[in-house]
Amino acid sequence: MKKITIDEMTNFCKRKGFVYPSGEIYGGLAGFWDFGPLGSEIKKNIKDSWWDYHVHQREDIVGIDGAIITNPAVWEASGHVGNFIDLAVVCKKCKTKSKVDKHELENAYCEKCGGGLEYKGEFNPMFTTSVGPIKEDSVNAYLRPETAQLIFSDFKLVQENARLKLPFGIAQIGKSFRNEIAPRNFLFRCREFEQMEIEYFINPKKTKECPFMNPQLEELEVYVYSSEMQEKKKEPKKMKIKEALKKGLIVLSWHAYWLATELNWFFSLGANPENFRIRQHTKEEKSHYATDTWDIEYNFPFGWKELQGIADRGIFDLTQHEKHSKKDLKIMDEESGNKVLPMVVAEPSLGVERAFLVFLFDAYSNNDKGEIVLKLSPTLSPIKAAVLPLVKKDENLVNISREVYEELKKDSYVSYDDSGSIGRRYARNDEIGTPFCITIDGESIKNQDVTVRNRDNCEQKRIKINSLKEVLRDLISGQKKFGDL
Ligand code: ATP
Repeated sequence: MKKITIDEMTNFCKRKGFVYPSGEIYGGLAGFWDFGPLGSEIKKNIKDSWWDYHVHQREDIVGIDGAIITNPAVWEASGHVGNFIDLAVVCKKCKTKSKVDKHELENAYCEKCGGGLEYKGEFNPMFTTSVGPIKEDSVNAYLRPETAQLIFSDFKLVQENARLKLPFGIAQIGKSFRNEIAPRNFLFRCREFEQMEIEYFINPKKTKECPFMNPQLEELEVYVYSSEMQEKKKEPKKMKIKEALKKGLIVLSWHAYWLATELNWFFSLGANPENFRIRQHTKEEKSHYATDTWDIEYNFPFGWKELQGIADRGIFDLTQHEKHSKKDLKIMDEESGNKVLPMVVAEPSLGVERAFLVFLFDAYSNNDKGEIVLKLSPTLSPIKAAVLPLVKKDENLVNISREVYEELKKDSYVSYDDSGSIGRRYARNDEIGTPFCITIDGESIKNQDVTVRNRDNCEQKRIKINSLKEVLRDLISGQKKFGDL
C-alpha cells in the first residue's frame, strides 16, 4: 500500500486524539506537540515495551531517571557547550530554513526545492535557563540536549549500587530539548522530544567477541548501506547480519549484535523490515572518537532518514568526565583482575517520537471499504479490547456486558462502547487500532459466551465468558494466534 504523506499522518493523529500542536488554541509553537488520550497510551506502550525488552528481560542492563537540568559542568565536559554546533542555512530560492552538518556544507542543496543554500552561521541548539530566583546569584544552566550524559556522570554510582560487572549497560528514557533551526515533518524533528538511550560498557581490551550474539539475531535480514557502498554510489544490499559481519562491513560483532537487537525490537512489534536499512557513517560524518557508527534508517514519506543512532563512543565520554570532575571513574574488571576505564561499544539512541511515527506508518492501512485500519501490534495498541453490548436498552445484556468489562479491565486497558451501530463501533475501533472487539448479544446470556472479533481480518469466534480473560491475555501477549482459538 502507498504510504500516506506526513501531512496526512499529522491530520489523522489530530483527528483521532493521538497528537495535537502544543498550545493549539493559541496557534501552537513550532516543534512542540501534546499527546492526547490515545496518543499518550501508544507513547507509554512504546516506552514500556522498550524498557521491558532492554532492562527487565536482561540481567546486564539497569535503568536510571536523570534530571533534565543538571550541573552545567556536565555539558562542558561532554563537549556540548563547545562542539554541539549546527550550521544554519537558508535556501536561496524558496527561503526554507534548515541545518546541515559541517561536512555537508559544500555539497548540500535545499531538501525542498533543490536550490542553492546560503550559510547563516553556526549556533548551539542547547536551550539555556537560569537556576535560582535572584538574578545575581543564579547559575546559567541548560535543558539537556540528550539523556546519555547523565548516564556517564552517574556511571560510578550506578555501577556500585547495582553491583554491575563488565560487560553491562545503563539505560534511560526521558525528555531532551534541542532548539532546532527548522522543526518540521511533524514528530520527526521536534524541539522537545523523548529519547530511549543505552550506554553499553565493555572492557576496552575485549572488543572482539560479543558473547550474546545468537542465531536468531545473526539470521536477521536487513538492507545494508556501508560507507563504501555510499562512496561508490552503489545501492544498499539486503543481507543477513552474519553476512555483513563476515564481509567486514560491520567491524565488531558487538556492534552487529546491537544493530540486530534493535532491529529485532522493531520487527517483533510489527514494523515492516522492507522500510528499514542500516547505514554506516562515512569517514567525514563519523565523530573523531568513534571507530564505527551506524544509523538505523527508515523510509519515511519524505525519504530515508535516521531513526536510531548506534555509535561506538570508545572511552571518550568517561575520559572527559574524569578530566573535568577530577574523579577516578575506573572500575575493577573482575574477569581480568585489572582496573579499567570501560569503553562504550554501542550507544543505541532512539527518539520516542520517531519510533511512534514508524509504528503508525507501518500499521496504517485501508480495508476493502476504504476505511482506515490501524494494524498496531496489540502491545502498542492504546486500547486492547472494546466491550460492545449489541443493544443498549436490554438490562440483562447491559449487566452482563458491564461484568465482562469490569473483569477485563483488571488485566488491561479496555473500553466500553455502546453508542452507534455495531458496524460503526467496529470501524471506530479499527481506526484507533483496537485489536479485539467483544460483542455481547442475546445468545451470551443463554450460553455464557461472547463473540471476539479480530481487527486484522474481521474473523469472529465464540468464546466462553469464564475463559475470556485468559484467551485475551494470550492474544495480547502474542502467545496465541487468533486462528488457533
Ligand atoms: P538528526 O541528524 O536527525 O538531527 P542527530 O544525529 O542529531 O539526528 P542524535 O543526536 O544521534 O540525532 O540523537 C539520537 C536520536 O534522538 C535520533 O536518532 C532520533 O531518533 C532522536 N532525535 C534527535 N533529534 C531529534 C529531534 N529534534 N526530534 C525528534 N527526535 C530526535
